[in-house]
Amino acid sequence: MKIGVLAVQGAVSEHIVILKKCGVEGVPVKRKEDFSALDALIIPGGESTTMGRLVKKFNLDKKIIKMAQEGKPVYGTCAGMVLMAAEIEGEHPHLKLIDICVLRNAFGRQNESFETDLTVSLWGDKPFRGVFIRSPIVVRAGPSVEILSFFEDKIAAVRQGNLLATSFHPELTEDERFHRLLIDAAGKTLKKVKHN
Ligand code: GLN
Repeated sequence: MKIGVLAVQGAVSEHIVILKKCGVEGVPVKRKEDFSALDALIIPGGESTTMGRLVKKFNLDKKIIKMAQEGKPVYGTCAGMVLMAAEIEGEHPHLKLIDICVLRNAFGRQNESFETDLTVSLWGDKPFRGVFIRSPIVVRAGPSVEILSFFEDKIAAVRQGNLLATSFHPELTEDERFHRLLIDAAGKTLKKVKHN
């Protein structure tokens, strides 16, 4: 199994390290050619405006959208969530993959970065350490979007079919659960393809 990490800008290596800990090869994805034989994709944190611009410039947007449409798992963290959102409050959206509207830099200057324990619906009472760095929040989620976690009353993690997004950064923790979720989903898609 091979999982791509979009590498036009942002925090790529942390994702590759945690994937390796999970026993999976993570490869940086910079050019169209890098998409061949990927089983899933991670869109990392960074600056969504810059990432959005570069993704378009190098024609990677169509490749990402195609992967998502083929049912391959795509996971966005922080700026990655912004890139995947159907709408961005006050700005033009980028890839429009998940039926959510996000508000960028939602926590204001005082609280730009913080960590807190979150409850994630998938894992009952075992908290997940949420690392928020100039994070977005989800201000609207469509009916087919599963809300996986809240920070206070704000939506911080969502899933829509093969698409996953968190406003926080699991790659900056030792907790592999979100990455394993992606890997499991990629494994299931692989099996389906083999059976056909
Ligand atoms: N504030 C950034 C943006 O909206 C996201 C920050 C991050 O990815 N850590 O693009």
